[in-house]
Amino acid sequence: MNDYDSQRIKNAIGIPQTNDPGKADIVIINTCAIREKADQKALSSLGKFKHLKKSNPNLIVGMTGCVAQLYGDKLLSKASHLDFVLGPRAIPKLAEIINDVEIERTRIVETSYDIEEPFEILPYHENEKVTSFLSIQQGCNKNCTYCIVPTVRGKEINRPLNDIMSEARYLVQKGVKEITLIGQTVNSWKNDGLKFADLLNIVGELESLERIRFTTSYPRDFTKKLINTMKTNPKVCSHIHLPVQSGSNEVLSKMKRTYTVEWYMEVVTRLKEEIADMAISSDIIVGFPGETRQDFEQTLKLVEEVEFDTCFSFKYSPRPGTPAASMTDFIDSETAGRRLSILHELQRKITCKKNEDRIDRIEQVLVEGKSKNDPSHLMGRTSQNRIVNFSSSDNLCGKLVNVKINNGFQNSLLGSIL
Ligand code: SAH
Repeated sequence: MNDYDSQRIKNAIGIPQTNDPGKADIVIINTCAIREKADQKALSSLGKFKHLKKSNPNLIVGMTGCVAQLYGDKLLSKASHLDFVLGPRAIPKLAEIINDVEIERTRIVETSYDIEEPFEILPYHENEKVTSFLSIQQGCNKNCTYCIVPTVRGKEINRPLNDIMSEARYLVQKGVKEITLIGQTVNSWKNDGLKFADLLNIVGELESLERIRFTTSYPRDFTKKLINTMKTNPKVCSHIHLPVQSGSNEVLSKMKRTYTVEWYMEVVTRLKEEIADMAISSDIIVGFPGETRQDFEQTLKLVEEVEFDTCFSFKYSPRPGTPAASMTDFIDSETAGRRLSILHELQRKITCKKNEDRIDRIEQVLVEGKSKNDPSHLMGRTSQNRIVNFSSSDNLCGKLVNVKINNGFQNSLLGSIL
């Protein structure tokens, strides 16, 4: 979502980007507040631009995103070189704000959620990019007790179908072959009597679009209709990111996740039964207040049972104003850290084994471009979202090719094109 917002910011300003802050007329720090570490990183990066403003008093420095929304005008008193603070909902107002700062040399804070056209301003789209995000939802209506998203991104707004489709058509016209629909709880999208499953089918009608992905799904809103659409629509990829957060019902209840482990397992079982070669990834928080050794062991048990293809796990981080932050039974950082390492190691083994299991198989890969580590290789992804590198001198960008897998590593597969 932040990536998407950064590209919108780039378009909103409309001037070329430089990688050298010393040459910039405007510096914008787009920030994330999900965990304390990201929050601190944002605040410390702000300090880095202080000396630039000294040598160039005309420089405009702004902070956008969730940290901007969270601290608002406190940021202005903290950093005298900061010219504006703008929340994630207010990106459509960015150009106007920069203009006001430039002309009137005033300092501005815009953290209102009440923006008339919150989806206005499309992201900057690089030519020849094969894949693209497309935001269908802003904000969040869930009340997970650990999460700061509803505070900093506001109530859920579902983007109207026509608006989504005009961006999707633009992307396809530009040569995009794979669209990832994004939203905080993307599968809760509804608009004008349509549900998320209907949206997948409508987007799937775009002729030269090959693939559709979506993230992140909320387990409770995962319907039979959606599973059926994933099964029957060949453009919808066989991968789902379905954060479970914990394998203990007690912890899930304290997190207000509104489902039980049994309920989650039923969704996973159905997905695996109905859809051939289904990949499932997840997010887990360890060390949530009150998490006992037994709770954590239940999380390990769930991870062993589901065998996630990948899983992102995090140490619980208290966030200002969230209900969990005022709970009293905190887990000490050392215990949480130890649990996190155990979980990482378990998942690393599962991911490696799953990737090794792909050896000798033939995978259909959508080619995205040159491989990161070796320019003589191309890189693409399978429907299950596995990265595949293979040697080729042809320009196959945007093509679906068959690759025989020769080796499987933790983060990627290596193969030869057929
Ligand atoms: N609605 C989005 C939220 C993104 S946050 C989504 O569901 O993907 C991504 C992950 O960060 C969450 O799934 C959760 O596992 C983790 N997370 C959120 N708040 C956290 C906190 N306070 N401490 C640690 N991890 C957190």
